[in-house]
Amino acid sequence: MRGNRETRIFFSTELLGWYERSKRDLPWRRHRDPYYIWVSEIMLQQTRVDTVIPYFQRFIERFPTIRDLAEAPEEDVLKCWEGLGYYSRARNLQAAARQVMERHGGTVPDNKAEVSALKGVGPYTTGAILSIAFNRPEPAVDGNVMRVLSRYFLIEEDVAKVGTRTLMEELAAELIPEGRASDFNQALMELGALVCTPKSPQCLICPVMARCAGRLEGAEERLPVKSKAKPPRPEYRLAALVEGGGALAGRVLVRRRPDTGLLARMWELPHIPADAVPGEGAGLPDGPAMDRLAAALAAAGVPARPGGALLNAEHTFSHIHWNLRVFRFDAEIPMQAAGGGVSPAAVAETAAAYDAAGGAADSAARLPANAGPAADDTAAEYRWITREDMDNLAFPNVFLRILNGYFGS
Ligand code: SF4
Repeated sequence: MRGNRETRIFFSTELLGWYERSKRDLPWRRHRDPYYIWVSEIMLQQTRVDTVIPYFQRFIERFPTIRDLAEAPEEDVLKCWEGLGYYSRARNLQAAARQVMERHGGTVPDNKAEVSALKGVGPYTTGAILSIAFNRPEPAVDGNVMRVLSRYFLIEEDVAKVGTRTLMEELAAELIPEGRASDFNQALMELGALVCTPKSPQCLICPVMARCAGRLEGAEERLPVKSKAKPPRPEYRLAALVEGGGALAGRVLVRRRPDTGLLARMWELPHIPADAVPGEGAGLPDGPAMDRLAAALAAAGVPARPGGALLNAEHTFSHIHWNLRVFRFDAEIPMQAAGGGVSPAAVAETAAAYDAAGGAADSAARLPANAGPAADDTAAEYRWITREDMDNLAFPNVFLRILNGYFGS
């Protein structure tokens, strides 16, 4: 057992008193609607509260009920999530909303087994939904909570280990005062977010300082013990910003990612892998890099003339770090397609379709489905887009930044 009875009672009592005095007014705290709690908890994973607030408000406005979310096109859900990252969270949330519709008639179940069976709902989110929305005495242990408990109870075990998480969950469950699970769990999270922060914890204003074993040992900066995760693997990629000409003037070519895997079904600039040479963008000299990209574009049915290097960009996922070198290209339409890609007639047809549609933004700016192998070895859908099209398509952050910069928004 960690800490004696008085130490535990002191912790729970002081923490609750502090929470009642200091809790932030957050949009999802104004309701006990389990759907709102659920959405907020999924958004808050790996994301700061300040960032989440406007996303949460837009999301709830757009999908006010579980049914609205379940029935929405996935593209709309991803668009609403655009910029938050970790897009599988949005897909899982929608899949789980559909499960709630099918299995529970649109009502979030007040039951541990049923909540934890929902897609993308792990032990932490299960505990958060059950405790915050239904006041069930379930622990909700995330990194914040493990940090607070490690310090207060002077726990030296590695919080990256499953056994330590189990220990923390048992401890957190025992600390919940009778009938106060909702407030207590939120108080614990709030203390970790506002006072017992990862760096420079503010012990002098902490409500539990008097009995904090970590603080009394001078170990607050050292705890929690956490073994280092593997750093993200670097990947070097060459990307093409292809500008349309003629009927496609003012448009840029984008492609859709495959249905599964990283950033599934989101839109991006075409890009291909490059050799990793540390220190300078994608590493490859620009001339050969553009030749390689041009060949890949031609193989995908988009003959294009290199226009020079545009910029370097980076993006870190949980396990991969992308280093992108972006080159500008001018599409050559119509022209003989190389590598068995789309025929010149088909390209001309695409341009003609634009002409016929008066260049309308929603005129299916798509190359024919038989456009040959994509620039990244997967069959892909391509579109020529304007700035306005970006309002309807979901892009990963790195491409969003590049395209917003290009279109000047
Ligand atoms: S006294 Fe310091 S280390 Fe202990 S719980 Fe409070 S902020 Fe964290």
